Amino acid sequence: MAPAGPKRLRRPAASQEAGTQISIWDAAAGGLLKEMGVKPSHVLPLMRALVAHIIEGSGSCAKAPCGSEAAKQPSAEEAWAALGVSEASLVDLGFLPRKAAAELLKTLAPFSTKLAAEPLMSADGSTSKFLVELRDGHKVETVVMRHEQRTTICVSSQVGCQMGCTFCATGTLPVVGDLDAGEIVEQLIHAHALEAKAGRPPVRNAVFMGMGEPLNNYNSVLSATRTMTDVGHLGKFALPPARVTISTVGIVPRIRQLADDLPAVNLALSLHAPTQELRTKIVPAARHHSMEELMAALDAYAAKCNKPMAHLLAK
Ligand code: SF4
Repeated sequence: MAPAGPKRLRRPAASQEAGTQISIWDAAAGGLLKEMGVKPSHVLPLMRALVAHIIEGSGSCAKAPCGSEAAKQPSAEEAWAALGVSEASLVDLGFLPRKAAAELLKTLAPFSTKLAAEPLMSADGSTSKFLVELRDGHKVETVVMRHEQRTTICVSSQVGCQMGCTFCATGTLPVVGDLDAGEIVEQLIHAHALEAKAGRPPVRNAVFMGMGEPLNNYNSVLSATRTMTDVGHLGKFALPPARVTISTVGIVPRIRQLADDLPAVNLALSLHAPTQELRTKIVPAARHHSMEELMAALDAYAAKCNKPMAHLLAK
């Protein structure tokens, strides 16, 4: 019998938990805005205006939703006020009536996450990392890497990881939980805001190489990637799909599905070993799919997405 894996903690989406603060990045936010009386055609322009304000505005991430570990999460109204957003300024945007503006300030926060501590910067300034505290107190790491004019964010998709790779600290964590789509997108918005505040170029690339196996949290990663690459949603802060890379240790059915769902983004496979025998020692979860099955899935993905195989094995 296979040894029991780490306990998997189900983290329901914020919108499914009573009394939980929902942010404008939650997958349910668009529907809630419509229920408040925002016209469907105004939802995305409103989101773009809010995104620009959060990232470039008076407060930025470091002022309201983020803060020291001791700081409690502000209410939605407090967080918006700290960003300089009021009922009147929302109405002035021209996308929502006064009643909806008042409801938005109470119901949807600018963030559901916060920075748990000040970001840490490498001595040469090329890399920084920050700890993001989720609404239930779990923490994940986000890394920002700067190479000349190319700034790349490395995002986390899970708390812990059930793949158990022997070389990886995340794989040894006892509890595993999935981030929801909003929590993944918020890592990008925090990074955008921190870079803007420091006067550095905006983030232009994203890699799913932080904590977790992204293809084990497929629906949230799919939804987050669609938002992160949607100009309609994020305006000039959206990332080109070709600059987003999803990294996997090899979840065969999901690799095949990804070719249909996100053909324009990149896939990177961490093979780790040239033989199945050695691979299963390093990546225990690899025992579920033979090397032949994995290569067949990659062939199918490469053919469907018109990407050379060598590009998939780059990591
Ligand atoms: S899949 Fe990635 S995050 Fe998970 S244990 Fe392996 S290396 Fe670590």
